[in-house]
Amino acid sequence: MKIAVLPGDGIGTEIVAEAVRVLDVLDLKFEMETALVGGAAYEAHGHPLPESTLKLAKESDAVLFGAVGDWKYDKLDRPLRPEQAILGLRKNLGLFANFRPAICYEQLVGASSLKPELIAGLDILIIRELTGDIYFGAPRGRRTAVDGHFPGAEEAFDTMRYSRPEVERIARVAFEAARKRSKRVTSVDKANVLETFQFWKDIVTEVGKEYPDVELDHMYVDNAAMQLVKAPKKFDVVVTGNMFGDILSDEAAMLTGSIGMLPSASLNASNQGLYEPSHGSAPDIAGKGVANPLATILSAAMMLRFSLNQPEAAARIESAVQQVLAAGLRTGDIWSEGTKRVGTREMGDAVVAAITKKTITG
Ligand code: NAD
Repeated sequence: MKIAVLPGDGIGTEIVAEAVRVLDVLDLKFEMETALVGGAAYEAHGHPLPESTLKLAKESDAVLFGAVGDWKYDKLDRPLRPEQAILGLRKNLGLFANFRPAICYEQLVGASSLKPELIAGLDILIIRELTGDIYFGAPRGRRTAVDGHFPGAEEAFDTMRYSRPEVERIARVAFEAARKRSKRVTSVDKANVLETFQFWKDIVTEVGKEYPDVELDHMYVDNAAMQLVKAPKKFDVVVTGNMFGDILSDEAAMLTGSIGMLPSASLNASNQGLYEPSHGSAPDIAGKGVANPLATILSAAMMLRFSLNQPEAAARIESAVQQVLAAGLRTGDIWSEGTKRVGTREMGDAVVAAITKKTITG
């Protein structure tokens, strides 16, 4: 088993270092190789996704990714911006299904901006399609931009599109995932206004007939955005397109109180995957040693479960995270009165200690 470790920019290097330490103490047989990506790769090689990094990612079973980006790259031509590395990896590895669980840990109920009774026990899974939609439709790449902007232009447009195979395969992923959970899928669309999403809805309905044991309902995206804050526990598996998924998964992430807690996985048809925290490179706190590494550590657990077929090791990590939270350790983003504020490294130390069964002191 081989893991490509791509820490990236900002807090990426700090949080990935902790996830790697956690993987190291599991005593599993895998090889880890690190490479540059994002702004760091642009500085060293003039490109956010150099050939050598892409090659490493392709020949690995999984990619453990930190985060990329910094405001200082906003003036670069779009193809050279750090965030393009993620799109390049998704495209080249054929990653089409993004899994974003939003789980509210019992100890963090108070960190949410919602009332405790609305989110206690929350466990939903947002599945976002990654290869189609408005992010990849024409006329992407054909516009004439100056420093990434359009001075004096009268209009700008992007085109929303989906193909039948793209919708069918993401629908199947959602129904299969629901079979392993509470057998409910909500497909989120905007079929009342957009042709693309009437097409989406029809195909999801057709695929749903192959899964009579799974209950399917459809919801417009504006209603879904409301229901997520009104009654989030009504949802179980939510499947949606690239853009709606982008927005709703961040909304769902914040329900739980901190984006610093939420892992994500992007998988291709052969379960090769890219695993990363749901948050970005947080330039505002980079280098201060205060970032929450738990989303990345939990992403490593997802990697063990989905791509490396090590469910027991994944469960060890998840249980260690629970123990650390139960012991009252908190990074600044999830800190509350009566808990102990710790930095990135101390949080990593505590997870390592919980895995190796040392006593954790809060
Ligand atoms: P962000 O997620 O980086 O930060 C949003 C807020 O959350 C900030 O206040 C930050 O300090 C806080 N935060 C994020 N992760 C945290 C953690 N682990 N612990 C504690 N606090 C945390 O989003 P942003 O500020 O909109 O974007 C910053 C940069 O990240 C931009 O360049 C953006 O393009 C990039 N970005 C990258 C990815 C990715 O690599 N997948 C995703 C989103 C944004």
